[in-house]
Amino acid sequence: MLTVSGVHTFYGAIEALKGVDLEVSAGEIVTLIGANGAGKSTLLMTICGNPPARAGRVIFEGEDITRLPTFEIVRRGIAQSPEGRRIFPRMTVLENLQMGSISAKPGSFNTELERVFHLFPRLKERIDQRAGTMSGGEQQMLAIGRALMSQPRLLLLDEPSLGLAPLVVRQIFQVIKDINREQKMTVFMVEQNAFHALKLAHRGYVMVTGKITMSGTGAELLANEEVRAAYLEGG
Ligand code: ATP
Repeated sequence: MLTVSGVHTFYGAIEALKGVDLEVSAGEIVTLIGANGAGKSTLLMTICGNPPARAGRVIFEGEDITRLPTFEIVRRGIAQSPEGRRIFPRMTVLENLQMGSISAKPGSFNTELERVFHLFPRLKERIDQRAGTMSGGEQQMLAIGRALMSQPRLLLLDEPSLGLAPLVVRQIFQVIKDINREQKMTVFMVEQNAFHALKLAHRGYVMVTGKITMSGTGAELLANEEVRAAYLEGG
C-alpha cells in the first residue's frame, strides 16, 4: 500500500532522513520506534509532503505522491494525527471533527461522525466543549477522530500515547486495534512506548539517526536483544 524508497529529507543543511526504505501493506499495523531526534516525525511529515523528500520516492497505492501538496495526499486517502495532537483549541469537539472532514466525500459526514462517536463515546458526551479545555487523553481521542473523519485508508499516528496516563494509553491502543480490525484500517504509527506499540503491531521498524537499522514482526523485535537494551530497558 505504501512504499518509501531511498527517501532523504532536509531541514536547510540538516539531513534528517538519510535514505529511508520501508513498506506498509494493506491491513497491517506497522510501528516505527527510535530514540528522540531519530527522524520518526520527519518521516511521517515527509509521507504527507511537508517537508517533501529531496530525493527518493513515496508511493501510495501505486501512485507517486512524493511531490504532491499535502491536501492532495489527504484526498488520496492518507490522514495523520500529528505529534502533540494539534487540535484546534478554541473550536468545539464537533467543529474539530468538521475540519477533519473537509476533504471527505460529500454526504459522508453523519456516517463518519457516528463511527467516531462509536469508537470514542467520550467525544459524543463532550460534543460542544472547547477542545483546548479537554484532558490530554480526550484531546488525543479527538486528534485521532479528526484524522478518521477524512475517511483515510492509511492512518498515520505520531506518538498517540505521549504524555498520557497508563490507563488512557491502554484505551488508545485498544481503539487503534479496533479500528484496524473492524474497519480494516491500515495504521503506520510512530511510538516512544516501544513495548506497547510492538505488542500491538504486526510489524515494526527501528530508526537510528535518519536510517532504518532493523525490521521484523512485532514479536521478533520485542524479543531482540538490541531492541530490548535500547528501547525496552526496565519495560
Ligand atoms: P522525537 O521522538 O523527539 O519527536 P523524532 O524521531 O520524531 O524525535 P524528528 O522530530 O523527526 O525526530 O527530528 C529529526 C531531526 O530533525 C532532529 O535532529 C531535529 O532536531 C531535526 N528537525 C526536526 N524538525 C526540524 C525543523 N523544523 N527545523 C530544523 N530541524 C528540525
